[in-house]
Amino acid sequence: MSRPIEAVINLANIRDNYTLAKKLAPHSRVMAVVKANAYGHGSTQVATALTEADAFGVACLAEALELREAGIVQPIVLLGGAFDAAELRDVVGNDLQLVIHSSQQLSDFLGSELSKRVSVWLKMDTGMHRLGFSARAFAEARRSLNASGKVKELVLMSHFSCADQCDKKTTESQLALFNKEVAGLEELKSLANSAALISCPDTHCDWVRPGIMLYGANPLSKPALPPGSLRPAIMPMTIPMTIPMTIPMTIPMIKPAMTLRSRLVAINEIAAGESVGYGQQWHAPQAARIGTVAVGYADGYPRHAANGTPVLVAGHRASLVGRVSMDFISVDLTGLPEVATGDEVVLWGDGLPVEEVAAMADTITYQLLAGIQQRVNYRYLDK
Ligand SMILES: *Cc1c(COP(=O)(O)O)cnc(C)c1O
Repeated sequence: MSRPIEAVINLANIRDNYTLAKKLAPHSRVMAVVKANAYGHGSTQVATALTEADAFGVACLAEALELREAGIVQPIVLLGGAFDAAELRDVVGNDLQLVIHSSQQLSDFLGSELSKRVSVWLKMDTGMHRLGFSARAFAEARRSLNASGKVKELVLMSHFSCADQCDKKTTESQLALFNKEVAGLEELKSLANSAALISCPDTHCDWVRPGIMLYGANPLSKPALPPGSLRPAIMPMTIPMTIPMTIPMTIPMIKPAMTLRSRLVAINEIAAGESVGYGQQWHAPQAARIGTVAVGYADGYPRHAANGTPVLVAGHRASLVGRVSMDFISVDLTGLPEVATGDEVVLWGDGLPVEEVAAMADTITYQLLAGIQQRVNYRYLDK
């Protein structure tokens, strides 16, 4: 028997979220970002379900080859580009597209014998200071690519560092720099991740690149909560009111695509003052009924989830208590006499937004979703 932990993935919801992205950016093509195993949702299943996607974005060659081997025919863009010159042969051979973000990648590309022209996404650093050419080097790189005879189509791109924040100053200054540098250039342009797609229509240009919103997590950050404060019980998935009025106010909600669930495998009664789990990090304030759930950090449940992190036990909210261990967590079932061993426990997804769990574990939804481990059983729904 395998452990009862499973990630249930609703492909129809991912398709609906893609349709929403398309609706919000009606004049743009949409690259569905499926890097990191589609943020933990299974990249071949997700890409196969997104027959409408104009392109897919992946982190590296290996991720792209997985999609090609699964029969995915749409354009695939390596968002990290080639990690060495030897990869360029496979890029050409599998009809992949390439980000070029550094002078090393540029010289590798220009110095390689390529049997076919390749579509290139040239990346400008507009302020994130992670990848990309400075504005001046960018103009030079663009000229040499256009003169090389090796480029099929050139897309000019950049990436935002703060598009998820309510304060749009940084995004606006990155946008202004990009627009100034590419003004009048005929190539296609691409800037927006999910957060910018939803909250900054000015950034849409020719290609948008949504990732997290396809998986139904809200890309717009929540107000920071002081440590130890009570987290709100419900995190609304609706879009904040700060969005420009150019977006219709009847935005349908994005739909969560993953439910991570497992089962109660044991229940213990403990006396007041007794502790639960490694390090005796939680003590029962009164006699308590403690349930053990088959999920742990080796499945991708966050080890730093705080006492009080919510779980749903047979549909009832209950709290994590004690440390998360490798294969199990403990939950306080005091006050839930009706639940029994074998009952279903939802860790996030249906009825429990992943945003809430991320906030209680001091992390972001991206890390929780992309962190689902190999040993978790996957089940796909398409309705
Ligand atoms: C991951 C990634 C995206 C998608 O970002 P989300 O915040 O998940 O929408 C877009 N563009 C690039 C270059 C990326 O690496």
